[in-house]
Amino acid sequence: MSATLAPAREVDVPVLPEALLRRFDAPGPRYTSYPTADRFVEAFDAEDLTQALRQRAEGGVAGGGAPLSVYVHIPFCDSVCYYCACNKVITKHHERAAEYLDALDTEINLIVQRTRPGQPVSQLHFGGGSPTFLSDAELQRVVDSLKRAFFIDERTEMSIEIDPRTVTPQRLAHCRSLGFNRISFGVQDFDPQVQVAVHRVQSFESVRELMRSARELGFKSINADLIYGLPRQTPQTMARTVQQIGELRPDRIALYSYAHLPQRFKPQRRIVADELPSAAQRVAMLGDAIAGFLGRGYHYIGMDHFALPDDSLAIAKRQGRLHRNFQGYSTQPDCDLVGLGVSSIGKVGANYYQNAKTLDEYYDALRQGQLPVQRGIALTRDDVLRRAVIMALMCQGRLEFESIELAHLIKMREYFARELDALQPMAEAGLVELSDDAIQVTATGWYVVRAVAMVFDRWLQSDKLRERFSRII
Ligand code: SF4
Repeated sequence: MSATLAPAREVDVPVLPEALLRRFDAPGPRYTSYPTADRFVEAFDAEDLTQALRQRAEGGVAGGGAPLSVYVHIPFCDSVCYYCACNKVITKHHERAAEYLDALDTEINLIVQRTRPGQPVSQLHFGGGSPTFLSDAELQRVVDSLKRAFFIDERTEMSIEIDPRTVTPQRLAHCRSLGFNRISFGVQDFDPQVQVAVHRVQSFESVRELMRSARELGFKSINADLIYGLPRQTPQTMARTVQQIGELRPDRIALYSYAHLPQRFKPQRRIVADELPSAAQRVAMLGDAIAGFLGRGYHYIGMDHFALPDDSLAIAKRQGRLHRNFQGYSTQPDCDLVGLGVSSIGKVGANYYQNAKTLDEYYDALRQGQLPVQRGIALTRDDVLRRAVIMALMCQGRLEFESIELAHLIKMREYFARELDALQPMAEAGLVELSDDAIQVTATGWYVVRAVAMVFDRWLQSDKLRERFSRII
């Protein structure tokens, strides 16, 4: 690994002046979907999803043969991380997994009855919670069920989120033998003081050992998740974590901003607010981290994400083929997504849906032989158009008017006259460049790309509840 220990090359990273940050740092969604999940309504129910699945099976308007992606949510974790905003169940009782896996089997059967068995899956993702809360035998059971229901082979991108505290190199080997070929490590921060403050202690050495094993086992892509803005983090501790991650050389790095919303997320009430870094420190940490990763040869993919130049995400970005879904950036074209498990979100044709958010409700629906859908939304033509605009900005940082006009039969300057006016202050601030035929997000504008996308979000325009979203930086 000696080649990877070289110090970072100096790179020029655009700086977002604090005055601009204050002006444009509004609360905003991350646009893993549009409309965002908080717009889903209970009027969309299991019957609507059934209809969408049947239309997909018939190759009708709701699917039209779109490739299929599957997400499996495993909600359990052994202990709570104080920054956590995920839908999870904290328990030491591993026997609780058995009932959950029974329910997952029922849900998979209900889905298959409404589509065709054996549909090819291009992307399968296990997330949580902690998928590695499951034992090896339990993981095998879920994968076997999925393989009976869908067509999954070595061409399927199979990824799993790993809590390094719950796995060994032997467990990674088991995941690989099940067919997982991509792996994501929850690292967050290596500083011991920060780890204590967020109740997630895991040594650099253990993560290094696991990543080395993952590489030897032939996982095609290794991702590391980091968070900035955590308690006791300083630009100095963050720089050290960035350096350590640089040494481990994962193929992808996701660097998320911590949003402190203790009223909404109970575990966050255990974080000492006085220990959180200041806004200026957060900006410094983000700028330094970006410089650190770029200086170590990573490419900037988009909001929060970096990848080595030969990683498929970096290649897709260069070729203008980047997409965005509920798991973040993706190389997969516009897939339908079947979300399995409590609180999972899915997309079938021009419909989004979300499953029941509590285990009781989830089990209850399945006991009655119903899909556990709690809410969703059928997209209008305007939603589909705005989704295309927002995804182009979030993925490529560029919107070509002609491509939208041809695909959606509108005139950009007429349809989006108000929005293009609203972009003027951002153009004057150097965050976007507006020409007759395109919108280009500048290097500085990437810091606030969510704010650029928000201009096109019709649902937000009259929204009074934006504080519910995490801060942009
Ligand atoms: S951050 Fe992940 S491991 Fe920690 S409590 Fe939340 S879901 Fe569980």
